[in-house]
Amino acid sequence: MTPPGRFTAEEMLAPARTPGEVWSRTVVGEWVQAGTRHSLERFTFRGPEGGGTTVRVGIFAGIHGDEPAGVAAAARLLPRLAANPAPVRGYELAVYPLCNPTGLAAGTRHAASGRDLNREFWLGSREPEVLLLEHEIRAGRFDGIIALHADDETPGLYAFALGAQVTQHVVEPALRAAEQILPRNRHPMIDNFTAENGLIRKGYPGMLCAPPEQSPRPFEIVFETPALADFESQVEANLIFLRTALEQFLQLQAVGQDL
Ligand SMILES: [Zn+2]
Repeated sequence: MTPPGRFTAEEMLAPARTPGEVWSRTVVGEWVQAGTRHSLERFTFRGPEGGGTTVRVGIFAGIHGDEPAGVAAAARLLPRLAANPAPVRGYELAVYPLCNPTGLAAGTRHAASGRDLNREFWLGSREPEVLLLEHEIRAGRFDGIIALHADDETPGLYAFALGAQVTQHVVEPALRAAEQILPRNRHPMIDNFTAENGLIRKGYPGMLCAPPEQSPRPFEIVFETPALADFESQVEANLIFLRTALEQFLQLQAVGQDL
């Protein structure tokens, strides 16, 4: 079990904040809450040239402050990819490793405002984190959005995924790969949704997703690790899931271009 507040944001984001690296860091916005200044960071990673159009994927973690494994994984993803960039050929990744810094600091799901930020998107929210992220998501026009979460009620891994092709060709292999680290939740009901082999084929209102007007829709995936499992195993499961999903999506696109 991971006690809340076991790691500070500074410690968890350190792998991403290494100076002089091949990716770039941007502070996309700052706000003050209860006298303390907070900021939202984006790390942009360009994979090797792929020869086709650049595939833009947004990776979001820590929107719930008590789910630190995704934060650590998103930060570690950058040096991991820099060392072995083959899986992200043709990609531009926008990584937001900590979407709810006040929640992480307090070890709470909700932000300091008391709001569950993952129920606020595209509904006229006034939460600073949501406003900044909505702007980023709209401007980014992502081809894919992956959000990393953890659930303390699941005994295993599962995912929410929109888009039939993505479900079959991207999420299923990514879950299978992550299963090397932690078991999959194959229960027919997960989090009050109908599930099949750890896959839920729908979302819910207010979740972090593409803006309602974006067309065509990007692929949208929410990956959940069991929050009570060993912390390092959750981080590793996230990293394997991300790498496999990105590899698979590229293959899916290559096949699509051949048709
Ligand atoms: Zn969550």
